[in-house]
Parts: sequence; structure tokens; C-alpha cells
Amino acid sequence: MAKNKKSPSHPKPHAQKAKNSAKSKNHVRPLIWMTVIIAGLLVLVVAIHQFLQGQARQPVKHSEPPSLDGQPVLGSDNAPVMVVEFGDYKCPSCKVWEEHIFPRLKEDYIDKGKVRFAFINVLFHGEESKLASLAAESVFSRHPEAFWAYHQALFEAQASSHDSRWVTKERLAELAEKHVPDIDVEMFKKELERETALPSVHADTALVEKFQVELTPSVMINNLMLPDPFDYEAIQATIEQQLEAAK
Ligand code: CA
Repeated sequence: MAKNKKSPSHPKPHAQKAKNSAKSKNHVRPLIWMTVIIAGLLVLVVAIHQFLQGQARQPVKHSEPPSLDGQPVLGSDNAPVMVVEFGDYKCPSCKVWEEHIFPRLKEDYIDKGKVRFAFINVLFHGEESKLASLAAESVFSRHPEAFWAYHQALFEAQASSHDSRWVTKERLAELAEKHVPDIDVEMFKKELERETALPSVHADTALVEKFQVELTPSVMINNLMLPDPFDYEAIQATIEQQLEAAK
């Protein structure tokens, strides 16, 4: 009889299995939770990354556009939208912008009276940047009608190697003689020597500081600093948006 008695010390194999299964369930549960938490964290990290990337693609909004007092402006005075390039004649990316983005901007908007365009000097490449800026400002003060031709000639003259010195007083005078009709070259050379246009260059530097320009070129459309001056589609979209807002 005792044989048939259930012995508490020998639980049914089934019961043992159930206990084992409960044990393993207890091990599995934290694993599931950990997986869920890690997956959740990953989703969160990806979402934050995408949000920050989206933020980086947004223009930086300033309280006002740069003042164009005393600046060379191309296009109709009545153009409702203003585009400002902060550039440097010594900067290779500015040359690329001048040759690849500017012509599209000119054809699509400046020539159609929708945008007026201004250029502000940035002196990120040392003495040569300063000298080229002084030359451009000197041409602008005496022969404003020839400014844009001279501006373009400076970018065209930029050396293919960034390190080679191409901005010299002689070269600047040579370019002025070629691209600025009626220029008094001796006067121009004297002005370069005396840094006559320095106040205008300093006025530009004040704008560079005010608008926290850190890269050249930097492009503003009205009061919006673009995150990527080479993204022409974004330039178009922002201009269209600003044209709409100006209606
Ligand atoms: Ca200027």
C-alpha cells in the first residue's frame, strides 16, 4: 500500500517539469524586457538623430536681414527678396558657388526682378582675402557700375591651388585695367597701398560677426541663413516661400 503512496520527496516528473518551465520562464522574462527596452532605446536614439539632422537642415532665423547700406547690390531695387552671399575671393568653395550656383540664381530670380543680390566680404584666408576685398571695395566706391564684372574677374583669376599666392597688387591692378572701363590705375594702386577702402571692409567684417558667419560661402535669404549654400533646390524653395510671404 505504502508503495502506492505518493511520496512528497519524489514529486511527479510532470511537476518537476512544470517547476523547471516556471524557472526558465523566470529567466526568459527579464530577457524579453531587456530586448524591449533596448529596442525602445534604439528607436529613441534614431528618432533623436533624425530630429537633430532635420534641425541642422533648417535655416537659422535671424531677427533681421543684413543691412545693405554701402553694399554692392545686383538686381532690381523693388525685388521683394534679398539674397546675400558672405564670400571670400580667396576661397575655393566661393569660386565654385560663383560658377555653379550664382548663374542659376541670376537667371531664375535676379534677372526676373524677384531677387536682389549682395556680396559681403569675409576675410577667412588672411592677407590675400583682405587685399582682394580692398580692391573690390575700391572699384565699387569709384566705379560701382563695373563692380560685378570685377567681382567675377576676381573669382575667375583665383589660382587652382589654394596655397599659391595669386592676390597681389599688380594682379589686382591688371584685372582692374581689363575689367573696369575708365579706371585710373595709378589712383587704384595708391588706394590699395593706403588701404583707403578699409572702413568698408571693416563694415563687412562687422556683418560677418553679427550674423555669426563661420563658413564661406554662407548665404542668407532675407533673415534666413541657409544650412547648405550649395543646395539649389533648398535655395529655390526658400526664395519661393519668401516671395509668397511678400505678396
Ligand atoms: Ca562690402
